[in-house]
Amino acid sequence: DFFHRTLPKVELHAHLNGSVSSQTIDKLIRRKPHLNIERSMTAIGKGQRRTLEECFQVFKVIHQLVDTEEDILMVTTDVIREFAADGVKYLELRSTPREETNTGLTKKGYVETVVKAIQLCKNEGLDIDVRCLMAIDRRNGAQVAMETVKLAEEFLLSSDGSVVGLDLSGDPKVGHGKDLLPALQRGRNSGLKLSLHLSEIPSQLEESDLLLNLPPDRIGHGTFLHPEVGGSQSLVDKVLKNNIPLELCLTSNVKGQTVPCYSQHHFKYWYQLGHPIVICTDDKGVFCTDLSQEYQLVSSTFGLSHEDLWNLSEQAIDCTFAPETIKQQLKQKWTDLKPRLF
Ligand code: 5GP
Repeated sequence: DFFHRTLPKVELHAHLNGSVSSQTIDKLIRRKPHLNIERSMTAIGKGQRRTLEECFQVFKVIHQLVDTEEDILMVTTDVIREFAADGVKYLELRSTPREETNTGLTKKGYVETVVKAIQLCKNEGLDIDVRCLMAIDRRNGAQVAMETVKLAEEFLLSSDGSVVGLDLSGDPKVGHGKDLLPALQRGRNSGLKLSLHLSEIPSQLEESDLLLNLPPDRIGHGTFLHPEVGGSQSLVDKVLKNNIPLELCLTSNVKGQTVPCYSQHHFKYWYQLGHPIVICTDDKGVFCTDLSQEYQLVSSTFGLSHEDLWNLSEQAIDCTFAPETIKQQLKQKWTDLKPRLF
C-alpha cells in the first residue's frame, strides 16, 4: 500500500539472479527458446513452499537463462529499476561471478558488466545508490573463494566504488566455512566488508561460532543462532558484543521452510533485544515479493506501527557498507522525505 511503497528503504540482502522479475524472465525465455524453460520453473508463488534444496534447483534454471554479458546487463538494470520503483534508495546487490565456457563469459567480464549496469542506471538519474558484493558460493571450495576475493580486490581498487564487499552464500548443506576462512580473512584485510550467511539451517553451530570470530560486518539470516531454536547464548553474545546487524528475509525463510510460519520468525527475538536488523527480500523474483511487501509483512505479523517501520528503515542506513559521507546524505534524504508520510 501507499505507506510501505513510499517509505524510503534500504535493501542489503538481494542476490542478483534471485531478484529477476517475471517480466525479465519472459524476455530471457524469448531469447533462449531452445532451453524449453517456463516461467513457473523460476519462481515460487503465493502460498507455495519448497525445501531449501528445491530452492537451489531454481537458481540453476535461472543461471541457464543468464549466461552472457548481454543477459547480465539486462538483468542488472531491470533489477535496479524495479528496486528504485519500489522506493529503495540504497541497494546492495550481491552476485556470484560466473564463467560460462559456451558463451565465453568470464568472471571478470561478469563483474565488469554488473558495474557497468550500475553506472548506466546512475546516468539514467534513478534515485537509488547501488553497490555490489561479490559472492562466494560455498560449494566451490577454498580455491575458487580465494580467486573471488582477488577479483573483488581488483575491483575495490580500480572501479568507481561500486564493489564494497563479499558475501558467503550457496547451499548451506555443502562445504564447511573453516575451509573458506583464509579467503575471508584476506578479503577483510584488504578492506572488503563481509556479509556472511550464518546458521540458515540447524547443523551449522560450530561453523557459525568459527565465522563469528572474524567477525563479519553483517549476518545473512542467522535463523538458528539463538537458544530458543537450538542455537546458544554464546553465539548470541558474540553477535551482541560485536553489534553485528542481521539481514532478515521473512518470505524467503517461510517459503524455503527454514522457519515454520511468519509469527515464529526470528525477527521477534532480535527486535525485542533492540539489536540492529535490516528487512530484506533475499530473492524477490524467486520468492515473488518486494521490499514494500516485506515491511508490510513485518508490520502485520508483529504489530509494528508506521513509526516503528520508519525507524527500522532509517536504522538500516548505519548497516550499509557505504562510505560515511553517503550515509550522511541518506540520513538527510530520510529527514527530507519524512513529512510526506507523517
Ligand atoms: P547469483 O549469485 O547467481 O546472482 O544469485 C543466486 C545465488 O545466490 C544462488 O546460486 C545461491 O548461491 C545464492 N542464494 C540465493 N538465495 C540464497 C539463500 O536463501 N541462501 C543461500 N545460502 N544462498 C542463496
